[in-house]
Amino acid sequence: IIGPLSRQRFFLKAGLADVVVTDEQCVITDIPQMASEAGAAMVACSDKISYGLEEVSAKPVDDILREMLENQKQFLILDSEKAAEVIVRAALALAPLRQERKKLMTKEEASLLSAKCRGTCETCNRACPNLLPVNLAINQARQGDFTKLGSVFLRCIGCAKCEEACVNNIPIQKVMQAAAASDTYKIRAGRGPIHDVEIRKVGSPIVLGTIPGVILFAGCSNFPGDIDDVAWLAEELARRKYIVNLSGCAAMAAAMRKDEDGKTIYEKYIPEFDAGCIVNVGSCISNAHVVGAAIKIANIFATLPNRANFELMADYIINRVGACGVVWGPYSQKALCIGTGAVRWGIPIVLGPHGSKYRRLFMSKKEASDWRVMDGRTKQRVDTQEPTPEHMMLVTETKERALVTIIKQCFRRNDTPPGRAIKLNSYISAYKQVMGSLPDDLQNFIRTEKEIPIVYKREVIAYLKEVGWKPKISLSLPTLIGTYETKVPIEATVK
Ligand code: SF4
Ligand code: SF4
Ligand code: SF4
Repeated sequence: IIGPLSRQRFFLKAGLADVVVTDEQCVITDIPQMASEAGAAMVACSDKISYGLEEVSAKPVDDILREMLENQKQFLILDSEKAAEVIVRAALALAPLRQERKKLMTKEEASLLSAKCRGTCETCNRACPNLLPVNLAINQARQGDFTKLGSVFLRCIGCAKCEEACVNNIPIQKVMQAAAASDTYKIRAGRGPIHDVEIRKVGSPIVLGTIPGVILFAGCSNFPGDIDDVAWLAEELARRKYIVNLSGCAAMAAAMRKDEDGKTIYEKYIPEFDAGCIVNVGSCISNAHVVGAAIKIANIFATLPNRANFELMADYIINRVGACGVVWGPYSQKALCIGTGAVRWGIPIVLGPHGSKYRRLFMSKKEASDWRVMDGRTKQRVDTQEPTPEHMMLVTETKERALVTIIKQCFRRNDTPPGRAIKLNSYISAYKQVMGSLPDDLQNFIRTEKEIPIVYKREVIAYLKEVGWKPKISLSLPTLIGTYETKVPIEATVK
């Protein structure tokens, strides 16, 4: 594994691959050119992204290989068995011939390539979507100091806009080879669906709120800060006994952080779907397994039927399953679809700052919004006065703000008082850790004094008095069914 999407261009330009194979998602458009410049063979395997290449499934393997190895031809091969044979045989043939091309740039070579930069024109900085100080980094690299370029590399998303804009045509992505650390990291293999037996174990504590929440880190590597911020967020939540799941590029990026003992989060936390564990569910499309886990909770724990029952399931999840999705480095339409898909199921999403470019959020106005729900037992409409969850999709700017927002988005109306106390304990402790004070909206989420975590009791009671807090209603069967026109009877929510 070379890492998330942000490392794709860097790796291809480094020429380390003998054969480059593309599928249908999240592959950059100039892969054929980069493969050809690196002297690597290239095979496209999906008609969704065929790069205009000739489809050669009908040709004999020996003929395809001859064309590839002797004439550097690139092909589309839709017959996957034939593609596999071609790829393996091409790699075996090319590997011994390409040893020289796999050498990374030395610091001396990188300094020479940067010779024309004086760091003054700053055209590269203006092109960089992450506002990185490329000019300073390249200018210092010219003088033999690669420290700055190393830190730029850690925050670089690999778009190559700086390189395209550089007035002196400096191959900035290649120069970064001399600054990149040659560290390797350990990641757990993607484990696939959450099993029914695991759901039976955690369904009740999740719904009662005593497991404070299920978190999914999904999406790409368009991070606002360092590549290891996802690992920091995941660990802060796992320490607080959330069930943490990761997928796709977020799962890979989370492996790229080691503690003082050299361990990644995958080595430190158990890979089970349980409190305080960290699970790599798999590739980007494995996100569905985590939404699936929320659906399974409604189906297995609450015995709601799966078939033709979308509305009721989503209602159950939004009111009772404390879950939150995080797309910390959003780039693609696919990441937006993943987030929106989770929202449809009643799971709120927290986006990183680049998510604002999607130009669509689902945010409430706390004070003006209607927080009434039906009490499934009395069939009366009740004003809970609590914004839980407060927003369905919002952007946060820093990892610290993201941490407290993720925790807050896991509050649910169905939380029992002990469950809400556990969630509030996480919220207050995280807020104090990263913001240095009590949360300024604490009064919105405390329904009764019983819910105030013991360790913070005196401080919180003083705060509640100051802001004029009043107790709120706590429901054991909250539902939105019945608050709008629907064919679903409210009785269906009572199982
Ligand atoms: S390749 Fe990296 S440094 Fe260059 S513009 Fe893109 S993000 Fe910025
Ligand atoms: S655009 Fe090129 S020459 Fe100008 S500061 Fe950036 S790296 Fe240096
Ligand atoms: S997380 Fe998924 S959508 Fe985003 S870049 Fe990675 S593979 Fe693509």
